[in-house]
Amino acid sequence: METIIEAQNLSFKYPDGTQALKNINFKIKKGERCAFIGSNGAGKSTLFLNLNGILIPTSGSLTVDQILVGDSKENLRKIRENLGLVFQNPDDQLFAPTVMEDVAFGPMNMGLSKKEVDKRVEEALKRVGMEGSEEKVPHHLSGGQKKRIAIAGVLAMKPHIIAIDEPTADLDPQGAIDILKFLLDLNKEGITIVITTHDVDLIPLFTKKVYVMHHGFIEAEGTPEEIFSDPSLVKKAHLRTPLISDLMYRLKNDGVNCKIKMTVKEAHNELLQILGENIRDS
Ligand code: ADP
Repeated sequence: METIIEAQNLSFKYPDGTQALKNINFKIKKGERCAFIGSNGAGKSTLFLNLNGILIPTSGSLTVDQILVGDSKENLRKIRENLGLVFQNPDDQLFAPTVMEDVAFGPMNMGLSKKEVDKRVEEALKRVGMEGSEEKVPHHLSGGQKKRIAIAGVLAMKPHIIAIDEPTADLDPQGAIDILKFLLDLNKEGITIVITTHDVDLIPLFTKKVYVMHHGFIEAEGTPEEIFSDPSLVKKAHLRTPLISDLMYRLKNDGVNCKIKMTVKEAHNELLQILGENIRDS
């Protein structure tokens, strides 16, 4: 499948000299969903700010839809129409006095008619379960509601790539499940989804493709099974294994002949199979 985001020796240095990204290489394919994980300060947010040109790579190259990030203002405009970025902290994203104006900002800047903008705002708010909040003041909303409004603002531009920095941060457990389902639905509709997350239990539910960042490098890439079965990598990157796989490892250490599974559903099936065999044996 076609490569949609490509980083080649991408590096980024902040004006104070902090080298936040160091020779990063990756290729994300159209329609894929993948996650960047790693400890605080690993460089994930910096990478995401490079993805839509809020920060411009200081060396190497980054392309989105074959358009070079940082080449020209016109390129950045096109990239921002194609790739919607949701910031980690919605307070950094929401700025208008009402929800309506906030969500309408992107599509209005795309030069769409008022009728089309209104339609998109209505659709986007419905999609994130915030219909009826048009006249609310964004800063009076709860953390989870703000996050939904920030996502609606991105959806209203109908990008075909969505990059979300920490989609489940500050959400209650049900809110996190809702966002996960919502992202999987968007992906089924063909939208490429890239996230950063600290939520290791969410990773196996979300994706088969994980990049581990550490001190500005991409330290490893692979499936959740590959990443979390490497204890030294998990330790180095300040991660932990998902709770379900931790349980499976413990059972295995106790002599249970089980395969390591990462999600409740897979572990349930695996354990039922083992229990079934034991029942037949006895
Ligand atoms: P993560 O999102 O993985 O927690 P960040 O991308 O926020 O990591 O940070 C990567 C590195 O860049 C850290 O060392 C951080 O302190 C530094 N950094 C982030 N923002 C700035 C900034 N505006 N100026 C200087 N250094 C920054």
